[in-house]
Amino acid sequence: MESSDIRDELTDILVTETRIQDKLRELAARIDEDYEGKDVLLVGVLKGAVMVMADLARSLRNHVEMDWMAVSSYGAGTKSSGVVQIRKDLDSDLTGRHVLIVEDIIDSGLTLSWLLENFASRGAASIEVCALLRKPDAAKVEIDCKYVGFDIPNEFVVGYGLDFAERYRNLRDVAVLAPHVYS
Ligand code: 5GP
Ligand code: MG
Ligand code: MG
Repeated sequence: MESSDIRDELTDILVTETRIQDKLRELAARIDEDYEGKDVLLVGVLKGAVMVMADLARSLRNHVEMDWMAVSSYGAGTKSSGVVQIRKDLDSDLTGRHVLIVEDIIDSGLTLSWLLENFASRGAASIEVCALLRKPDAAKVEIDCKYVGFDIPNEFVVGYGLDFAERYRNLRDVAVLAPHVYS
């Protein structure tokens, strides 16, 4: 059997590893400055945000804590329905905390919109969002995202934490999946 290369399953590399790392260092510098003197609680949304969290957090110089949340959105297919189920809740009490949600991508915005409302009801002192990627053309609700890495076209992307059927999360770049992979 012929050996297959993951690269053959991708079309465009949308964001290279180098650009991702440069951008995360830039965002981290802003975050350090904005939260000077405050303890931040970074909340990563599993599983997609694992890589962003790892690299962003290691570029920060201030003290931070990390927590994780796993959510799934009800509804068929790959599209978010906005009805969110908590699969793993936070370990931390958010009362009085400065929360920075770390996300891989804002697509429709429905998941984040739900999370923001949920966290607000838990008494956080402040809540902001850092997302590596955003698809402006896919927005169904506006999300006030203070730290955005890259705006990308409305295409399904994989890599750097983002999956298709749980694969491709380990790619270092963000890329568009070739159509033949879907069929
Ligand atoms: P939402 O539509 O609620 O903004 O997106 C929810 C989640 O769907 C994202 O956090 C991400 O995990 C997943 N998602 C959205 N767009 C893409 C995409 O282009 N590729 C991949 N792999 N996942 C996506
Ligand atoms: Mg996500
Ligand atoms: Mg996924």
